[in-house]
Amino acid sequence: MQEKKYQFGDKKVSYYFDTDFSHLEKLVDRDHAVIVTDENIFSRQKKNLKGWKTIVIPAGERFKVQSTVDDVISQLIQFETDRKSFLIGVGGGVVTDITGFVASVYMRGISFGFVPTSILAMVDASIGGKNGIDVGMYKNLVGIIRQPEFLLFDISLLKTLPADEWINGFAEIIKHACIRDAEMFRELEKNELMFFKKDANALSALITRNVMIKSAIVQKDELENGARRLLNFGHTLGHAIENAYAMPHGKAISLGMVAACFISEELSDFKETARVINLLKKYGLPTEKVLDTERIFDLIKMDKKKVKNTMNYVVLNQIGNAIIKRIPVTELEKLLYSIARSR
Ligand code: NAD
Repeated sequence: MQEKKYQFGDKKVSYYFDTDFSHLEKLVDRDHAVIVTDENIFSRQKKNLKGWKTIVIPAGERFKVQSTVDDVISQLIQFETDRKSFLIGVGGGVVTDITGFVASVYMRGISFGFVPTSILAMVDASIGGKNGIDVGMYKNLVGIIRQPEFLLFDISLLKTLPADEWINGFAEIIKHACIRDAEMFRELEKNELMFFKKDANALSALITRNVMIKSAIVQKDELENGARRLLNFGHTLGHAIENAYAMPHGKAISLGMVAACFISEELSDFKETARVINLLKKYGLPTEKVLDTERIFDLIKMDKKKVKNTMNYVVLNQIGNAIIKRIPVTELEKLLYSIARSR
């Protein structure tokens, strides 16, 4: 096991890499801890969860809503959870987002930690302290930034992760490569998903590398006034597609990254769109879809990244080198329509 501490503002978060679920017992007192997980993970990880007080929520993005938060809180009251209790989110991004949110508001805030169980939650959702829920069509509209006490990485949990969810998770890994790590981009080009599925050492190294990329960016800018915005590469359009078409996060982000590459060609002279498309395809991600631009644009107008009539849009200069451009919403609309027409 390898332990590393990351400082975010005044909060130190402990990361435990290459470890086992059973290490959880050393981090929290079982009698004062409650695990939150979803029904899929609960049924596939019974052995690990045995003996822990557990709240099981329904699986899926459509349950990342206030009514699930209310249900979790009711069960916490039944468990007589108090201010000294500890909440642990064991799951994908839906579980970690909800757990962090509930822990932040229950009794004005109790301590929490995460054991991410999907690739996406390991390399992205569990890191950085953003916790929240969706409201109607709008993703993550209500939430809070509050850091967990710890993150525990046990890659053996991925053995039960469905094939499609591996693909979704690799969208965020490719995003990190695009914005920050040209060498990792080349490594991904040389390999394929099956290689990482079969080689535990390579997978562990890849996950650790991505955890470090995201953590370093958040460390510089926890409240998303600068560098953290780079993590939104592909997400402006991606979130709109995710909601409009009820598409899984990773797949929607993949389409969002393709659009962001074309926009980068217009705004920053980027010339490597074909390489990004080929890599996304190689990892089973979609790169083409006929979209209802008007509907998508209506959703983009509600995006949290919009400030008055301009939008902070992440564009690539080169692979591994991203910048933020502030563009008028009207210009973004024109660009999106022109991409839709040309494809
Ligand atoms: P998810 O939590 O819905 O998990 C995907 C599916 O995989 C679910 O059906 C889940 O039950 C199943 N699953 C997860 N781990 C499993 C395992 N080990 N074995 C068997 N099944 C397993 O979704 P996700 O892709 O992990 O995360 C997406 C969510 O993360 C979105 O809500 C997104 O908004 C959020 N997110 C948050 C942040 C953040 O900074 N807070 C960043 C990125 C994404």
